[in-house]
Amino acid sequence: MSEPKLKITRGDIIARGVLCHCPNCGKRGLLASWFRLGKACRSCGMDLARSAGIYSGTTSIGYVASIVFVIIPVCFLVVFKVLSVTTGVLLGIFGSFGFIVLIYPVMLCWMVMAYHVALPGELPANGGKEGRDD
Ligand SMILES: [Zn+2]
Repeated sequence: MSEPKLKITRGDIIARGVLCHCPNCGKRGLLASWFRLGKACRSCGMDLARSAGIYSGTTSIGYVASIVFVIIPVCFLVVFKVLSVTTGVLLGIFGSFGFIVLIYPVMLCWMVMAYHVALPGELPANGGKEGRDD
């Protein structure tokens, strides 16, 4: 993984990405709202729309994450009689919904991070091409 031409390494991209910072400039500015990425980074103007197709996978990650982190633990609590069935069902429904809402911006940022960890040369600061080709 040694690519001396890269100004911003994969390690940099990951360190910035986990904090929801822009992989290109390291500042905040990726999110237009809680549920939506901006068209471009507000700090450096890096195009985020170019790879937008990849980010549509975000919601399916959310479903899997809510099953693993909410529904399965709740099932165990019901099985071991820590929670009643009613409480467990309600917690499963509202807990998983709330969980997805809560982690949504993090998922968006991490999709941007994953994309650029895979293709670090696409960052403008690494000499990636500006704008889209289509
Ligand atoms: Zn930026």
